[in-house]
Amino acid sequence: MSPKQMKLMLNTVYRQVFNQAFSGGVLVSILRIVVLGSFAIATPVPAADNAAMEAEIQTRAAALEKKVIAWREDIHQHPELGQQELRTSSLVAEHLRSLGLEVRTNVALTGVVGLLRTGRPGPTVGLRADMDALPVKETEGLSFASKARQAYLGEEVDVMHACGHDAHTAMLMGTAEILAAMKEQLRGTVMFIFQPAEEGPSLFEPSGTNRWGARLMLEEGLFKWTKPDAIFAVHVMPGNLGEISYRPGPALAASDTLTITVVGKQGHGGMPWNTIDPITTSALLISGLQTVVSRNTDLTTSPAVVTIGTINGGTRANIVPESVRMTGTIRTYDVRVREQVQRDIKLTAEKIAESAGAKATVSIVKNYDPVVNDAKLTTRMLPVLQRAAGGHVAEGKLSGASEDFSEFAKVVPGLYVYLGITPPGQDPAKAAPNHNPLFFVDEEALVVGTRTLSCLAADFLMSEP
Ligand SMILES: [Zn+2]
Ligand SMILES: [Zn+2]
Repeated sequence: MSPKQMKLMLNTVYRQVFNQAFSGGVLVSILRIVVLGSFAIATPVPAADNAAMEAEIQTRAAALEKKVIAWREDIHQHPELGQQELRTSSLVAEHLRSLGLEVRTNVALTGVVGLLRTGRPGPTVGLRADMDALPVKETEGLSFASKARQAYLGEEVDVMHACGHDAHTAMLMGTAEILAAMKEQLRGTVMFIFQPAEEGPSLFEPSGTNRWGARLMLEEGLFKWTKPDAIFAVHVMPGNLGEISYRPGPALAASDTLTITVVGKQGHGGMPWNTIDPITTSALLISGLQTVVSRNTDLTTSPAVVTIGTINGGTRANIVPESVRMTGTIRTYDVRVREQVQRDIKLTAEKIAESAGAKATVSIVKNYDPVVNDAKLTTRMLPVLQRAAGGHVAEGKLSGASEDFSEFAKVVPGLYVYLGITPPGQDPAKAAPNHNPLFFVDEEALVVGTRTLSCLAADFLMSEP
């Protein structure tokens, strides 16, 4: 029997024995060491035994499921807005320290980063979870529903984990516990990134020059400390329970915030000929903006969205006001489309206002770049996703949401996937979406997320050349 055949046989035997007989991590580890020990004699360079490793992750994730759910419920009950995640980050930091990780706190104000160094040379893999909640009032009658209130841009508001970042934090805490316990079987380094303020800052309004979240972490030198060779994240959203969806290339949109001020000339509503009406001008302008996408954008290249979300002007029925202010959001997936849409919005707004004798001032703040999943990394990790999610993996659609995971994925190859959390028997298309007060996470999905993050990291470390 050649060493290769010997290894194959041992691998098969090991897997059968594992599947039939064991569920305890310690026994698995002992058996694994024995089996791997014999490989070491038969073959000079033992290849990564990913199947056994994944089986152990599966067992450990199942054993940790209740703990992960308890963390999630605790964090859910105590949500904190971006830049104010003090309780959450100390919970995380304490846990990572208890696992023996190297821990940094106060990264980008409230972020926590843990390093699991195996002591064996090898690549570095990054895993990212976001920790912040939203200014949303929870209405679902959960036993662990939030009653929290915090200051959002100076105003006291209700706070809720309406985007599932409580689940992300808990799943990554579980992953850290699994991988720390399997340290002896891994090589290289795992970087656990618990990021604050993914939803944006709560202490100040974004101006285009101030920083928070992922970008601030990087500007503070996160990747100068340790730079991962790849980075992964899992986000919960309505979808078949426990199903992972992925999309190579652009997956989530770039998000830019638009503010337009239209200035006219104030006067009597009964004598509009003596005024320059910013209200009628704004109505024309908003209609005109619809053509930026519908007439000017090559939608065969990539889609775009322009939405006006607020419009404010005027004080009284019979006064033509001096000015109107509107704000909106722009979503794109392609650099050139992004530039074209921004240029056309400016031109359309300015020229329509000019035609009415008014003046429009357009300001666009770039928030987040599109999340672009590395195509090669996606293809490479697809079988891992398949195994971690028990075959429940589907290619997803483009998302109109945006995410500052893009900041990490611009610097190192990244893969961001969605995890379905809709209870069985409910149509995910009709489930309350993220950011809705009724957003609901079926906790059965958490074990899949924990397994997925753990397997992505372990497989990457062991298979990266
Ligand atoms: Zn969100
Ligand atoms: Zn989110």
